[in-house]
Amino acid sequence: MIAEPSPEQIARWRQQLAFKGQGLYAALSDVLAGKNVTLTTLKLPHEQKPGERPEERLRRFLDQVSRAQKRLGTPAWGLCPRCQAPVPEVVLDEAPWTETCSACQ
Ligand SMILES: [Zn+2]
Repeated sequence: MIAEPSPEQIARWRQQLAFKGQGLYAALSDVLAGKNVTLTTLKLPHEQKPGERPEERLRRFLDQVSRAQKRLGTPAWGLCPRCQAPVPEVVLDEAPWTETCSACQ
C-alpha cells in the first residue's frame, strides 16, 4: 500500500492532468482542422503504432489522461493495474498519467 497522498499533492496532479489534457485537446483540434502539428513537443508516452494516424495517437493519450483523472483520489490511484505494485511518486510527479509500473511497461 502506498502512503496516502496529501490534498496538495492530489491538487498538483489534478492540475498537471488538466493542463496535459488541454494541450492534447488543442493539438487534436489542430490536427483535425488539417493544421501541421509537431507531436514531439507533446512528449507522447506511446510509440507510434504502424499505420496509426496522429489523431488516433493523440486520442489514445487523451484517453489515458482522462482515465488518470478518474483514478485520482480513488484507491486505484498510483497502483499498477496489472500487478498492483505502486508506481513511484517521482514517476507520478513527472507524468501523473502513468498507469503501469516499470516492470509491466
Ligand atoms: Zn506492474
